[in-house]
Amino acid sequence: MNQRIAIFPGSFDPFTIGHHSIVERALPLFDKIVVAVGMNSKKHSFLPEIDRLDAIRRLYADEPRMEVIAYSGLTVEAAEQCGARYILRGVRTVKDFEYEKTLADINRKIAGLETVLLYTLPEYGSISSSIVRELISLGRDVTDLLPPGYTFEIFSRRCDMRRGDFWHIRAILAQQLRFAATTETAYGGKHRKQSLC
Ligand code: ADP
Repeated sequence: MNQRIAIFPGSFDPFTIGHHSIVERALPLFDKIVVAVGMNSKKHSFLPEIDRLDAIRRLYADEPRMEVIAYSGLTVEAAEQCGARYILRGVRTVKDFEYEKTLADINRKIAGLETVLLYTLPEYGSISSSIVRELISLGRDVTDLLPPGYTFEIFSRRCDMRRGDFWHIRAILAQQLRFAATTETAYGGKHRKQSLC
């Protein structure tokens, strides 16, 4: 059978309720959606790669039409490997639109893949992984910004910290310090870099 498979690539660091909403609204459009978590060894991530993957896998554990994979390199190569003929992406702003248009043009040109863009729901238009990261690093509750189930992952880390796991605390603090040192503030007009992976 010729299945309509879409790949939904992103950093998902972390996966937010905005990402979740795109998946839920796209499920009726495709036979299968593959969430592809981009791994970039040169870029420091806030959540460890394995945690990003596990949390999204748990989120969709009961949805047989969802798959979650890790990938590095070109998105079109990951799409080819999982048999996807469509790339799913979300759009919040004009800036997102311009960025996504360039990626869509290139991915169509180099691999003949069509990109399907879904506009964000108005209530999720201001939600981004970078804002969630910033709030977490400032110790704020981000429950409402994450899909149900994903929240538990974040809080379970805090429980681990309460249990006095020294190395875990050290790792989290180191991550947060690196994050604070390298990130621009979420509200500072961060410029997105063109990236095909
Ligand atoms: P990337 O680093 O590839 O942009 P992200 O994890 O930031 O990865 O986002 C993955 C996709 O989800 C992108 O198409 C992005 O525009 C979209 N997206 C992110 N947040 C939202 C949101 N709140 N509503 C709709 N789409 C979103």
